[in-house]
Parts: sequence; C-alpha cells; structure tokens
Amino acid sequence: MSALTNTSPVKYDDTEYGIPAVCYCGERPKLQPSFTRTNPGSLYYTCRNREDGDYHIFKWWDEAMMEELKSVKEDILKLTCLNQMREALQDQKEEIANILNMHKENQMELGRLKALIANKSDGLTMELKLTNVFVATLFIIFGLVTSVYVSKTMTV
Ligand SMILES: [Zn+2]
Repeated sequence: MSALTNTSPVKYDDTEYGIPAVCYCGERPKLQPSFTRTNPGSLYYTCRNREDGDYHIFKWWDEAMMEELKSVKEDILKLTCLNQMREALQDQKEEIANILNMHKENQMELGRLKALIANKSDGLTMELKLTNVFVATLFIIFGLVTSVYVSKTMTV
C-alpha cells in the first residue's frame, strides 16, 4: 500500500504543547463538552471542520491545561534562574566597581608617595652638596694651615 492510497488519518502532532493554537486545516480550535457516556461533560478542543472526514485537532482540555501549567512552571523557573543570574551579575558589577575605586585610590597614593620620595631625594641632594662644600672648605683650611705651618718651619 502506497502513502497516497493510505486513507488512515495522520496522527495529531503531539509536539503542540499546551493549549492548541491552530488545527491542521488552519482553523482555530474550539472548546466544547463531550457528550459520550465515558466522558460526559468533559471539555475538549476540536475543529469546526471535523465533519469533512479529514483528521482535525482533538485534545482534552484538562490535558492541555496540565501541559500549559507545566510550561508556565518551567517559564517561572527559568525566570527565577535568570533573576538569580542577574543578581549575581549585579553583585560582580559592584565588586568590579569597588576594585576600580581601590585601584584609583592606590594610584593616587602611589603618586603621593612618588612626590614625597622626590622631595626627600632633593633634600638629600642638598644635604650632600652642603656636606661636600663643608668638607672642601675643611680641606682648604687644612691645606692653608699646613702650608703656613710648613712655611714657618722652613723659615725657622
Ligand atoms: Zn481543522
């Protein structure tokens, strides 16, 4: 038997989860109560074109509602997870801002320390220059005294 001669209806696509939005024929599903003995009053989704003999949508309302609730529950879990991730990102953002502030403060402190070291080294340089002048003066005085002393001893 080929696919063309097979007249058995195609099974309803179970991938449509929750409340069905559209039938195979393109019609919007309608909700109506069952009048069978086995499911009296039970609601189900069906199609207004179902009398044409083709396969149209059929889905129990409670089954669709359970799937819909499950889907909503999963969405809520995803949103909760996303919110937790968002909060974690916000915390990390604040931590990064704190680290950047600390870095700026450290840079300012480093600048202050560099300036302080530069001032101290200038002072040290001045002290060294003064010490050198003092030592040179001492050598000159010593030299003069020595030469005066030597000249006196030579003349005696
Ligand atoms: Zn239909």
